[in-house]
Amino acid sequence: MNEHPSCDPDAGASASLAPGLYIVATPIGNLGDITARARAVLAGASVIACEDTRVTGRLLGHFDISTRMLPYHDHNADRVRPGLIARALAEPVALVSDAGTPLISDPGYKLVAEARAAGVNVIAVPGPSAVIAALSIAGLPTDRFLFAGFLPAKAKAKADTIAELASVPATLAFYESGPRLAATLTALHEGLGDRPAAVGRELTKRFEEMVTGSLSELAARWADAPPRGEIVVLVGPPLPAPAASEQDIDSALAEALATMRVKDAAVAVAARLGLAKSDVYARALQLKNG
Ligand code: SAM
Repeated sequence: MNEHPSCDPDAGASASLAPGLYIVATPIGNLGDITARARAVLAGASVIACEDTRVTGRLLGHFDISTRMLPYHDHNADRVRPGLIARALAEPVALVSDAGTPLISDPGYKLVAEARAAGVNVIAVPGPSAVIAALSIAGLPTDRFLFAGFLPAKAKAKADTIAELASVPATLAFYESGPRLAATLTALHEGLGDRPAAVGRELTKRFEEMVTGSLSELAARWADAPPRGEIVVLVGPPLPAPAASEQDIDSALAEALATMRVKDAAVAVAARLGLAKSDVYARALQLKNG
């Protein structure tokens, strides 16, 4: 049962849309991926705010949609935003980006935040996004993921950002370009260790590929031949720490026993090395009693 006025995919251009700001996802390559609801909303909106009227114009032309477009991008956003918000209070206004879901490494965050603050009804018209497409086919854990967008271009800032992410217990997702892929994979290998990873390229397009392997294998693969096209890099969660050796346990206990009672030392060392308290306690007693 569709209760929302914009929920009927068969409504077409003639259905009147309620006033509001419609955040409309568009294909990331394959035009067949546009949703029926996205077409209906784009056809029924009074205006479509878009990054580049040439790019969105081609999409609209393909679907015979003649809704007027209004450029909304980093360089004019502050000037255009108040007018768009005022319109969205009275009319259906759509926001699209060049491809995929607006706001996902694309403009729209301030527009949505300020529209909501102004009492505009903000409505999602979901659809393609490269990060979700990549996660859905890479075979890396998806129960938790952290989308980090584009890493900084400069080596030091890139390494610092990677270091911030190193302990996050989740699959990491990045957007990247072909020319920068090898340097990014190398930096990820240096900062995160040799984790399982995946590179999704040109997803939903003719030369789509998803290559999986360890970070070092993937870095080597593209070291001398940067690929073309649009890319998502995924990196699996941190690998489990190698089990502590007897020597590790003994030296941690020796250090702890210098300042703590046997029981406290055992508890502290067991927690630090991820071991059973009873085992560490037994060993601590042996060491203490010589
Ligand atoms: N908003 C878009 C989304 O929802 O995916 C992303 C926009 S961002 C400016 C563009 C980046 O997304 C590209 O540089 C690339 O990293 C990634 N991307 C977009 N389309 C892709 C595709 N078909 N295959 C792989 N990556 C893609």
